[in-house]
Amino acid sequence: MDQGALHRPPLRAAVPRNLCTDCGISRSADPGACGRACQFIRPDYAGLEARVHGRPRDPARPDELHFGPFRRMLRASLAPARPGAQWTGITTRMAERLLEAGAVDAVLTMAPDPEDRWRPVPVLVTRPEGMAECRGMRMGYAPLLALLEPARAAGHRRLAVIGIPCQVYALRALEAELGFERLYVIGTPCSDNTTTERFHQFLALLAADPATVTYLEFRADYHVELRFADGRVKAIPFLQLPLSRLPADFFPLTCRSCVDYANVLADVTVGYMAGQGEQWLLVRNARGEELVGLLGEELRLAAPGSAGRRQGAVRGFLANLERAAGGLPLRRMPDWLRPVMGWLMPRIGPRGLEFARARLEMKALETVLHLRREVPARMKSMIPPHVWALAAPYGLAPRPGEKPGTRADG
Ligand SMILES: Cc1cc2nc3c(=O)[nH]c(=O)nc-3n(C[C@H](O)[C@H](O)[C@H](O)COP(=O)(O)OP(=O)(O)OC[C@H]3O[C@@H](n4cnc5c(N)ncnc54)[C@H](O)[C@@H]3O)c2cc1C
Ligand code: SF4
Ligand code: SF4
Repeated sequence: MDQGALHRPPLRAAVPRNLCTDCGISRSADPGACGRACQFIRPDYAGLEARVHGRPRDPARPDELHFGPFRRMLRASLAPARPGAQWTGITTRMAERLLEAGAVDAVLTMAPDPEDRWRPVPVLVTRPEGMAECRGMRMGYAPLLALLEPARAAGHRRLAVIGIPCQVYALRALEAELGFERLYVIGTPCSDNTTTERFHQFLALLAADPATVTYLEFRADYHVELRFADGRVKAIPFLQLPLSRLPADFFPLTCRSCVDYANVLADVTVGYMAGQGEQWLLVRNARGEELVGLLGEELRLAAPGSAGRRQGAVRGFLANLERAAGGLPLRRMPDWLRPVMGWLMPRIGPRGLEFARARLEMKALETVLHLRREVPARMKSMIPPHVWALAAPYGLAPRPGEKPGTRADG
């Protein structure tokens, strides 16, 4: 279906697989390409980082262990902020500028399903004005890369892709064989995703009138922000979220064990985690610099800040995770303490870069413990060395059989 500047070619059926976020490759003419492309099969981050950015992570630049190779990290906002954007709209504005400048023929990204604003639907955008319809975050995953073949068939040779990490990994793994003349990759971080159906269950626990929620974000000040169609805004401290009422399989294993929170293979990552209320840019290579340059004076930039210490928060997280993995109930905070901690955490907890480092470490611990419990045989191929390095300070080390070249029986 085509609607002006947005094109939605029909999709082939997906080939069902375990540990799959339906990035779209199984819907291509060669579904066997999943074996070469998939983040969940045998990822090679160091190899792809070297190919895409010219080098792997540099041990002399400690933040690269957490966030992947980058030239510059920045706190950023777009002025004026764009209506409907998740934050200020840097992501969609970069793509819009590429189309305005004639640097690409099309942008591959997600628009909201006309029937359900929270459901992502892959689209090819061929005119700058189409990008406004794609602003904002949807919850769930959808087969973005299924539109690579239709893009080529439509004659698009220069393409920009906006994607979450599991989509960007597959795109980079296949980039050389796709044969585009020019490819710009704008990435956002992603974590704790689930299907759109499951997300609707979560919304129903947060609001009496879930159908009127127009915006949701897990902010770096430990609150979830909800906005409603009538203009109301509600901020709920993380500690008061009804997480214990969610089913155990609310988050699929893919999203509990995903190893690339910061989208390390994008040319530029546009997130918010280290932004302390603003956005957070990781400019990873020359093409990323070009994308930032396209925004010119519209982009306000500053150095990212950092405060607090993450180790205590990460250790507490690990203790809870281990209890849950051992079948014990999560340790709940007494109700009287929740508002106190809800007030204290944004003031004394890790903030800025330290918050982002804490989240990456928590994610590494989750990867190891969830895979160890549910699919231990997959650990040796699925867990890259950087994840073990992030988990090591918390006493989580590979057991025999969990790293390549080792056997479970020692
Ligand atoms: C499921 C999910 C979890 C995230 N978690 C984090 C996080 O923990 N930390 C963090 O710093 N950032 C996270 N992000 C990114 C963050 O929400 C913002 O998208 C990002 O900061 C860009 O803001 P913006 O105003 O520049 O985006 P906008 O200009 O509003 O553009 C957003 C872009 O994201 C695309 N998009 C929206 N939903 C999806 C989706 N489901 N799948 C693929 N593409 C989509 C849109 O099509 C659009 O191109 C997450 C994003 C998603 C989709
Ligand atoms: S490459 Fe994509 S479609 Fe194929 S198995 Fe992996 S996530 Fe699923
Ligand atoms: S959390 Fe990871 S696996 Fe899940 S949708 Fe996001 S990038 Fe993909």
